[in-house]
Parts: sequence; C-alpha cells; structure tokens
Amino acid sequence: MIIIMKDRASTEQITQMETRLKNLGFQTHPIVGEFKTIIGAIGDKRLVDMEALKTLPGVEDVVPIMKPYKLAGRELIKEKTQVNVSGVTIGGKRQVVFAGPCAIESEEQVVGIAKAVKASGASILRGGAFKPRTSPYSFKGLAKEGLEILKTAREETGLPIITEVMDTRDVELVSSYVDMLQIGARNMQNFSLLTEVGRTNKPVLLKRGLSARVEEWLMAAEYIMSEGNENVVLCERGITTFETATRNTVDIAAVAVVNELSHLPIIVDPSHATGHSKYVPCVARAAIAAGADGLMIEVHNDPQNAMCDGPQSITPGQFDELMGRLAAISGAVDRSL
Ligand code: PEP
Ligand code: MN
Repeated sequence: MIIIMKDRASTEQITQMETRLKNLGFQTHPIVGEFKTIIGAIGDKRLVDMEALKTLPGVEDVVPIMKPYKLAGRELIKEKTQVNVSGVTIGGKRQVVFAGPCAIESEEQVVGIAKAVKASGASILRGGAFKPRTSPYSFKGLAKEGLEILKTAREETGLPIITEVMDTRDVELVSSYVDMLQIGARNMQNFSLLTEVGRTNKPVLLKRGLSARVEEWLMAAEYIMSEGNENVVLCERGITTFETATRNTVDIAAVAVVNELSHLPIIVDPSHATGHSKYVPCVARAAIAAGADGLMIEVHNDPQNAMCDGPQSITPGQFDELMGRLAAISGAVDRSL
C-alpha cells in the first residue's frame, strides 16, 4: 500500500508513520518530495486496519495496491479455475446449464422436470428444499423430504443435484445429499454460513447478494476459500435497484468484471434476475453471449400453480426451445453448450 502524507507533514510525523508500519511488519520506502512525502509499504496488509492508519497525524490517504481478495482474485492466481461437480466441469469451454423448479414440491414433479431438462441439455438439477421466503407464512420447502426427492431424481436421471442451504445447522445434512451447495442471495454475507460451507468438500454456488458490490461478493467467496474450500462458482442473479419493471436489475457487465477480477467461474440466473418468464430467454441469451460459464434457470411443469416463483418459471417446452437457440450463440462466442 501507499501512504500519502499531507503537504508539509513534519519529519516527526513521517518517522512516526514509518515506525508504525515497521512494527506491523512492513518494509517502508519513503519518497520525499518538495511538498509531499509518500511512503511505499511492502508486506501483508490483510490484518492491518487501514482506516486506523488514516487517523495518524500528518496522513492524507492510505491507498491499497493489491486487492483484498487474495484467493478469489486474479492477481495471484492467473489461470481460470474449473470446478468439478460430480463430473460436470464449470469454467471450461462448455457453458453449463442448471435447471429445475424453484421449490421441490413432489417426487413426480421433480423427476418429471429432471428428465425433461436433461433431454434438452441441462447438466445439473436444481430445486429448493429450504426456501428463504420474504413472508414467514409462505411455503418454506419440504426440508429433508425434499432432499430425498432430489436424491431420487439424481438416481433416475444421473444429473448432479444442487440445493440451497440456509442455516449452519443444516450444512452437514444437506452436504450428505447434494453434489453442490447453494448459498442464496440473502445469505451472501452470512459469514458463519460461509465459514461452515468452506469447511465442507462440496463445491459451492455463491449467489450475489441483493445489494452487494462485486468486491463484497468476492470477499464472500474469499471467506469460503479461506477455510480450505476453493471450489466456488459465482452466480449473478440481479441486484435491487429503483427499477420495478423487473424483479431485480441484472448486471450483465458483472460477468466481464468478475472475469477480469477473479479466476472463479461465473454463471447467470435470468429467472431471479427478471422475475418474469417472458424476459428469461432474452437475459439467458445475453449471459451466454457475455461469456458466462453457465446459467441457472427455473423450470416448472405448471408455473401457474407453482408453490414458489411461478411467474418467473418457464415450462419444459419453453426450456427446450431456449436451449436450441442458446447453442448458436454459444458457438458464436467460441464456446459450446
Ligand atoms: C433460488 O435460487 O431459489 C433463490 C432463492 O435465489 P436467490 O437466492 O438468488 O434469490
Ligand atoms: Mn426461486
């Protein structure tokens, strides 16, 4: 980092800053100008409170040089990471599609949807057993029974399965069923939960928080990775803005930003991003064109009677049609589907 001292900071203030930095384990390299002195500090700033340094006398600003996310960032790890979910590679040339209902409602429903989306080219089956609902009176999922149903669907189709885990107390149970754990948008900064999933050996899909900046999202990934679990995939699912025409505002540029700042794979969820089934194909196509490593799409056999997120769910027929159109776009950006 670089410490910029105020115009005409006293020699004593500069020395005091250098001593402080050395005590924190930094090598210091002062550059003394006619009016200003700046101090280059080389070392590990992870445990340093930069805001506290700014309060020392004579300091104008403290500027970090390296990004705070060491494991999730591209500065130290240049190669794109590929995450293996029970044989399905995310982050490779092939763009991977996750599909399935918002909530697991019954075995018949999930197995039927699983067979259909597999036939259309989906690689991973999604379905919520623990649903984070805005109202405590809404359907909150079938919990363990839902996990059993997902497991049956995997046995019937061979598709790896993913479900959301909302509570640290459920991490062990959910991990014993699924191929990949999902951290929902509402829990992106639930640091105890991030720590807990970081201690498992299951790949994690980390959704972007409702109003999280990219840096906060990457720091959440860092939490998981710093516990030893480096198999993290990011999911852009739209953020809260003033716009009400769509449920959330999808940040397509985040695909490019994350690809630049991080080596982790990134997928896009056009269903939660838009909240309307009619807009899902457009955003799905945009995400594939933008170079996302995949998509997560909500598919329901009877959206009008779905227990959760029916308005944004597409039917298996619509999913099949969409997959056909995505393949051409994927090829145009030198990927495959
Ligand atoms: C979901 O995928 O079912 C879900 C609840 O998504 P999000 O956390 O993005 O709202
Ligand atoms: Mn949903």
